[in-house]
Amino acid sequence: MKFPIRRLVLLFAVLALVLAAGCGDDDGNGESRAPEVTVEEEVEFPAGSTMAELADAGTIRIGTKFDQPGLGNISLETDEPEGFDVEIGKLIASKLGIDEDDIEFIETISANREAFITGDRVDIVIATYTINDERKQQVDFAGPYYVAGQDLLVREDDDSINGPDDLAGKRVCAVTGSTPIARIRTSYPEAEPVEFETYTECVDQLEAGQIDAVSTDDIILAGYAADPKYEGKFRVVGEVFSTEPYGIGLPKGDTEFRNFLNDVLEDAYEDGTWEEIFDATLGASGETAPEPPPVDRYP
Ligand code: GLU
Repeated sequence: MKFPIRRLVLLFAVLALVLAAGCGDDDGNGESRAPEVTVEEEVEFPAGSTMAELADAGTIRIGTKFDQPGLGNISLETDEPEGFDVEIGKLIASKLGIDEDDIEFIETISANREAFITGDRVDIVIATYTINDERKQQVDFAGPYYVAGQDLLVREDDDSINGPDDLAGKRVCAVTGSTPIARIRTSYPEAEPVEFETYTECVDQLEAGQIDAVSTDDIILAGYAADPKYEGKFRVVGEVFSTEPYGIGLPKGDTEFRNFLNDVLEDAYEDGTWEEIFDATLGASGETAPEPPPVDRYP
């Protein structure tokens, strides 16, 4: 059953999220700017619900990546987290009446996302987090709010790798606790997997010539390829070989909270906010916003 958020939220603020500067998304330097969040002024949630607890506390702890350009990344300019996942987090906070300055963004890496949720180190995780049955044994997911696919990043001048079938004997870096490292090990046993804790370490190894490819979601790799720091150094192969639906991780069994998060996503799909967030973050490196995926209100 859909959670009746519209009846519970007193809409003193009209828009949850608007583009800054009269709908423009250009900051004068030709770069897109993140949308500006307008916080719901007055919100009322069922007593005892996670939403009420967070709204009363006036803060939320959000686990995200800190080293994935376009998704969850620490800005060199502001030293603050920025990207698509970060903006989805700000949107959720705004619907709870929480100002973005009162969000605590906490770095989660691929291997510790479930543990940070089950150990109450974060309230939610928005961190390129693939929804799958194994993870659902420990946590629940709202969403998906984006669907990525596993791909490969190689050095620009390396034309020997053009898909996963070219990986025999190649050193392929992926991250501990991620779905891509598991898939390389099980489906491409002739590749030589190299494992690190973060994608930054993999990308640095690729740049240094220590490994032949980095494997993870296409949208993460596109972010590195477009990063001015690595300009002209890498190319994304473009042969996607998995489906990675990104979810918002939350404590298992909190269905009321999951329904709320799904409602926020669906509303953002309908009123165009999701697309604005996409355009201002991932879209800045040339990606076109796809149709947002339907949320999965699994039992
Ligand atoms: N989406 C994949 C996962 O959740 C890969 C990206 C990541 O490691 O965060 O494992």
